[in-house]
Amino acid sequence: MDTVRLVEPGRLERFQSAEPGAPGPGEALVQVRSIGICGTDVHAFFGRQPFFDYPRILGHELGVEVIAVGEGVDGLSIGARCAVLPYLECGTCVPCRRGRPNCCANLRVLGVHIDGGMRERMLVPADKLFFHPDLGFDQLALVETLGIGAHAVARAGIEAGETVVVVGLGPIGLGALQAARARGAEVLAVDAAPTRLRFARDVFGVERTFEAGEDLEERLMDALDGDLPTAVLDATGHPASMDRAPSLCAPSGRVVFVGLHKGDVRFPDALFHRRELTLLASRNGTAAEFREVLAGMASGAIDTAPWITHETRLDRIAEDLPGFADPASGVLKAVLRIDA
Ligand SMILES: [Zn+2]
Ligand SMILES: [Zn+2]
Repeated sequence: MDTVRLVEPGRLERFQSAEPGAPGPGEALVQVRSIGICGTDVHAFFGRQPFFDYPRILGHELGVEVIAVGEGVDGLSIGARCAVLPYLECGTCVPCRRGRPNCCANLRVLGVHIDGGMRERMLVPADKLFFHPDLGFDQLALVETLGIGAHAVARAGIEAGETVVVVGLGPIGLGALQAARARGAEVLAVDAAPTRLRFARDVFGVERTFEAGEDLEERLMDALDGDLPTAVLDATGHPASMDRAPSLCAPSGRVVFVGLHKGDVRFPDALFHRRELTLLASRNGTAAEFREVLAGMASGAIDTAPWITHETRLDRIAEDLPGFADPASGVLKAVLRIDA
């Protein structure tokens, strides 16, 4: 079957791989229909992804169709359209035992640590499939990306009526923005790039946007009649922005670091204490957020229309992928589609 793998940095190779065979107990055989391309794939392509083993079949943002199920699989019929939770946890480490499998110490991610979805068919554990009858394959392929933002919102426990600021309007920040709104929060948006602010206003309908900068705290207070947001979700991965994040948060509020960087985070303890802030890290989503995103998409609370800006195929991905890394391409999310 038609397959694409990353042989080494810079070289995607299309080849014919063996069929995956029949699903074993607890497994499903799926036809891959839509694959979101993300920063992880681009970093792997350019050899910038730490701890990445080559060769690897990329693809962890998947919209799939069930074509066979193994023994003991209930509630999944042939033809079911599903999103795939691509994180495989060990089940025995401390976070797994505590019900926090997304923090598994031995986490393996499809398309990163083990082969992913850039192929026509694959076997997946059936409990990693999230079925929704009303969503298309491109929407299902978006669930993983949006699940990361939804997890940040869940970490903060965002509630209806809150005023929240999202800093950093890349795909993860925009996912957090949509998840916070779906919970009924009012969302302000910050980015350093005017083009992204315009995109957030024009395409995502964000009314209040702010350019990042020194006096951001004052500008937010001006906009909020002297108050500050009760939650700050920072999806920049930018040191200066993360250092500043606590200063943007109202006393008693929560600061969530969704993005990450390699260095240290520094902010004044006096401010952190005086405001009695809660600081949270947020990484990949969980089954709960997958369900939340699916429900939000189905109800229309999460609008997927603005998301897919570029499209490719297995026979074109090798030439298209480098372009998806270029900010000038205006890519928000590219999808690779495979016909059944
Ligand atoms: Zn991704
Ligand atoms: Zn574990």
